[in-house]
Amino acid sequence: MITTFTGPMHSGKSETMIRRYKKIYNKDSILVFKPRVDTRDMGYISSKGSKKTVEAICINRLEEILPHVTEDITNIFIDEIQFMGGSVKVLLELSIIEDIDIYCAGLNMTSEQEPFGIMPQILAISDKIINNYSSCNVCGRKAMYTYYDGSQKKESDVLVGDDGYKSLCRRCLKRTLTKTGDNRLTLSL
Ligand SMILES: [Zn+2]
Repeated sequence: MITTFTGPMHSGKSETMIRRYKKIYNKDSILVFKPRVDTRDMGYISSKGSKKTVEAICINRLEEILPHVTEDITNIFIDEIQFMGGSVKVLLELSIIEDIDIYCAGLNMTSEQEPFGIMPQILAISDKIINNYSSCNVCGRKAMYTYYDGSQKKESDVLVGDDGYKSLCRRCLKRTLTKTGDNRLTLSL
């Protein structure tokens, strides 16, 4: 079975996944992966607001999971999966043929409100999707969107790290876009 925790930044995706990890008694049955591109804490998965950390194998592509899988493995955790390359068929094979439980955590959308990398495919193959919310940095309501305030020059989908990123609700995102003259979500018909 494939379970995916998604949502905007600061919505506790990694924390929810770590909580699931902690509940599994036999840690030798678990493999944990994270993308090498995320250099925040190489080799560890951590969540803000909590001291919980879990050791992780750093990989670039989903195919790199396969050599690590032995017959003792029944659980696989993958954090920041939006940054992964490779084919999601790897996860389908591990889930269906090998009967391994797979837990993924990743951002569903970029701070430009575009579907993030491999995430549409990850969400398509997931048996269960848990969509987390964060708290709007402006008004405190439920926030579904990550917004980048442009305080640093941004060259890829997401700068690694948290600087300049805000969580916003629909209303505050709309207000921010209107105020800055940003028409990214306006369709020209
Ligand atoms: Zn708001």
